[in-house]
Order: sequence, then structure tokens, then C-alpha cells
Amino acid sequence: MLGRLARWLRIAGYDTIYEPDMEDGEVIRLAIAGDRMILTRDTRLTERRAARGRSFLVGPDDPLEQIEEVLRAFPPPAGLQSRCPECNGEVLELQDREDAKDLVPEYVFLSKKEFFRCAACGHIYWEGSQYAKFKKKLNAIINKGNPLNP
Ligand SMILES: [Zn+2]
Repeated sequence: MLGRLARWLRIAGYDTIYEPDMEDGEVIRLAIAGDRMILTRDTRLTERRAARGRSFLVGPDDPLEQIEEVLRAFPPPAGLQSRCPECNGEVLELQDREDAKDLVPEYVFLSKKEFFRCAACGHIYWEGSQYAKFKKKLNAIINKGNPLNP
């Protein structure tokens, strides 16, 4: 349910685990063990004693509003580097253009100059990919206030 939000948070640079099928008890255990916040839409989870002070109830249905709400509650520290939206990998490295040739559709290869590769899962990103679009919107939210209600 919060999959889009999880991807956005990774692009913003937050270390984000997304496990929609995990049981509440396990989620809480993981959060405590890793000193993490739980983002959920489930009030039963936030009301559990063990989750108090460690959970945040996400209100809006719209992913864009969700990320705004979360960024307002947990402002990103300066210098946070984007993580891979697919796997939460920390390193997105510049991919040698020739090596990218066999990894992306031909029309993409011909029209783009730069490619980035996740060192963990190998996913390739380029300007204009969903990642880049999210990142642009995210920067607008972080730097120029709220683009939905200017
Ligand atoms: Zn990855």
C-alpha cells in the first residue's frame, strides 16, 4: 500500500525497508532492532504499546501527498544521497556508456548520454526514467516548498 512512498523515500536517500506482507509483530521487532521508524496506514499497528514513539501514521492516499507529509515530519539531513528505488542499494554509480548499450532499450541508449547503475541489484537508470522524474519532483518538494499548494 505504501510501495510508491517507499520508492520515493529511497530516492530521497532514506534507508527504507518495504515489507508489505510482514506481520505487525515482526515489523515492530525489526524497527526496534534497527532503530527504525515504522510508516504505516494501520492504526492498530500504531496503537500497539511496543510501537509507540516508533511509528508514524501516514494519512493521505496520494503518494505525492504521502511523501510531502513524511518529509515534513522527518526532514532529510543535508547531503543525503539517493538510494536505489528498487532495492534500497546505497550506491548508484555512473555506468560506462558503452557498457550500458546492451542493458537498456536501443531508443533509450541512442537518446541518453548518462546512465547510472545500482551497485547492489544492477538496475540501470537514466535521465527521463521514473527514477529521474521522481527525483525532480522530490527536489521541488524539498527545495521550493509544496508544489501542490503554491
Ligand atoms: Zn538496486
